[in-house]
Amino acid sequence: MGEQIELRCRCGEVRGTVAGPSPRTVNRVVCYCDDCQAFAHQLGRADLLDAKGGSDIVQVAPATMSFTRGQQHIAGLRLKPNGLYRWYAKCCNTPVGNTLTPAIPFVGLLASALDEPRLDDVVGAPSGAIFGKFAAGEPPPGSTRLNLPLLLRAIGRLLGWRLSGRAWPHPFFSRDTGAPLYAVTVLSKEQRDALRPLCGPRAGAP
Ligand SMILES: [Zn+2]
Ligand SMILES: [Zn+2]
Repeated sequence: MGEQIELRCRCGEVRGTVAGPSPRTVNRVVCYCDDCQAFAHQLGRADLLDAKGGSDIVQVAPATMSFTRGQQHIAGLRLKPNGLYRWYAKCCNTPVGNTLTPAIPFVGLLASALDEPRLDDVVGAPSGAIFGKFAAGEPPPGSTRLNLPLLLRAIGRLLGWRLSGRAWPHPFFSRDTGAPLYAVTVLSKEQRDALRPLCGPRAGAP
């Protein structure tokens, strides 16, 4: 548990840490879903997506991640009323991570927000890719079907984090009320629809 990695928004106002990450304690996948793509586009940060529209995500236990400064710049976005909470630093529109409600204890951090040049060494390379049917161009191998080993691994991590008491404290939710600690905006249907042509396999097609 000695190692710790830093989280940093592009401008440096928002900083945080992830304590003790290792390939055995986190779950790293590249997500090609059109919602992750839409989030990047909404923030004007499509530059952070990979060539096929993927988002490199490192899922960690809530209690291992915390902010050390710049909390006043943190905001949440939901693409629809019951969608994932997608958190970002509004000082410079850096996507930080995504969560469900704290009942499902994980924080999916964007690898691009982690200030760790040796990320592959510290947390391991991504163990797979998911939602490849939304990828731009040819889907990455194995990314279009249900990846059972990956799913079981993710569920195993969640159970482990809960059982080991690392669901709380949560960096984005109040333990007392279960409510988000930061302001959350829900996109309107019009805003959401406007993002769709930018995302998925036919992105940019006339
Ligand atoms: Zn910033
Ligand atoms: Zn996604």
